[in-house]
Amino acid sequence: MAAAIATAKESKPQIAITIDDFDWKKIPREGAERANRQLLDALARHSNLKAAIFVCGEHVDNETGRQLVRTWSDAGHLIGNHSYSHFSYNDADVSFAKFSDDLLRGEHFISELPGFQKMFRFPFLKEGETAAKRDQMRAFLTKHSYSNGHVTIDASDWYYDQRLRARLDQNPALDPRPYRDPYLAHLWDRATYYDGLAQSMTGRTISHTILLHYTLLNSLFLDAVLTMFEAKGWKLANAQTAYQDPVFSNAPRIVPAGESLIWAMAKESGKFEGKLRYPGETGEYEKDKLDRLGL
Ligand SMILES: [Zn+2]
Repeated sequence: MAAAIATAKESKPQIAITIDDFDWKKIPREGAERANRQLLDALARHSNLKAAIFVCGEHVDNETGRQLVRTWSDAGHLIGNHSYSHFSYNDADVSFAKFSDDLLRGEHFISELPGFQKMFRFPFLKEGETAAKRDQMRAFLTKHSYSNGHVTIDASDWYYDQRLRARLDQNPALDPRPYRDPYLAHLWDRATYYDGLAQSMTGRTISHTILLHYTLLNSLFLDAVLTMFEAKGWKLANAQTAYQDPVFSNAPRIVPAGESLIWAMAKESGKFEGKLRYPGETGEYEKDKLDRLGL
């Protein structure tokens, strides 16, 4: 494996796009179909890039959701499981039994799609607040032939989207373009942060998976996001390919478990005590900046 890593070594990281939740109802003014097309078109324009979408069953147990998610499968994107109800597994009242049942309930609504693969992404990247719960889910995933749809680059794109939608509620004629550059800067900041951590943990450049969401914001700016990473010299990778990187075989034994895989590896190493904020990402970290910008 070491030799394979050495020959695969590149000076610039690779990055794959992963898109969570599939919450099409949150896209305002019945614009979900247009947003869906814009997201798919943005990926197609960049060398027909293949993403992974991690779908919550609750968003596709209806006719519109079913139609929309099928377009992703038909376009060759990887369809992963993100549970049915999007429970946080770190909540004390979300037991292993409740959470694992909810995972299988979610699977039911996507497993017939040709693009479906047994990859599971934990909602909120929370993998259990106790070692017992963490290990129960890891054993469950193995037993059901699932792999963990890890994120290496976490961010708060959902918060930028939330802010934009709140302003559009007040003023439907609002020009969304001022959100673009701060959003791109946020993603670049988080990408370089997690890439730096990844390099210090692995001694090499890895294939990253960035967490984005199925939102109005990304329907507007995903094309610009992809263009930015290319302009910075990063190589866009298909999600399927990125997940072949051996970094994804790591399963850090931390408590609470979860966050970005890179964050968790750094936490487990003990080399970054006092330097890793928890949670790794949240809207609160972005609030002052967006307030100052009037966005
Ligand atoms: Zn989610």
